[in-house]
Amino acid sequence: MKNLILLLVLFCFFSGFVFAQETGTLKHPIIDSKMSKKEVFDGLDPKCPEEIRKRQKIVKLKYYSFDGKFHQGQLVIDKDLVKDIKKVFKLALEIKFPIQTIIPVSHPNFRKNERWDDDLSMIANNTSGFNYREKTGGGSLSNHAYGRAVDINTVQNPYVKGTLILPPNGKYQPDTPGTLTADHPITKKFIELGWDWGGSWTRLQDYQHFEKPLKKSGE
Ligand SMILES: [Zn+2]
Repeated sequence: MKNLILLLVLFCFFSGFVFAQETGTLKHPIIDSKMSKKEVFDGLDPKCPEEIRKRQKIVKLKYYSFDGKFHQGQLVIDKDLVKDIKKVFKLALEIKFPIQTIIPVSHPNFRKNERWDDDLSMIANNTSGFNYREKTGGGSLSNHAYGRAVDINTVQNPYVKGTLILPPNGKYQPDTPGTLTADHPITKKFIELGWDWGGSWTRLQDYQHFEKPLKKSGE
């Protein structure tokens, strides 16, 4: 009997300890995205060639968010760019650059008519990579279609073409936390790794967008 009581006391002590563990720390981040491979590629545009889809890797990333806590998400990117992405997001974590969320565009929150919807992802200020789609404005395939582009904090870093601002709730204010500028350490890190930043384009500015195309395509 005494042993049983002792066991109960020990159980309560340790379970309490486990449940009281704080989340949102670097060691125990808040999990924003924990999708399976099947879920990540579900609903992908059927036009996406098999060889492109097969190259995509799901990268688990920790990040600091606007709530002052550490989170964990998933970014889908071409296998050749995984190392670059890990370096950039490690830096973002170290300097506590706030990122809203990093969730694949296939998530049910970003679906419209069963398809992945970049507009919904942008409105939600979500950071994402691979999405088999055309460039904003149409025409040809975006580097996102090859998993060779990333959009970061879409609301703080919108796409701006004349009076058109995407997402519509976006606002570019360089002094606001989570905003990217030419001299920001994250932008510099991407450039150092051979990526292009859409914020430095002339015809339009895509402040959220970084890409490392196989061939230089410009805008
Ligand atoms: Zn983009």
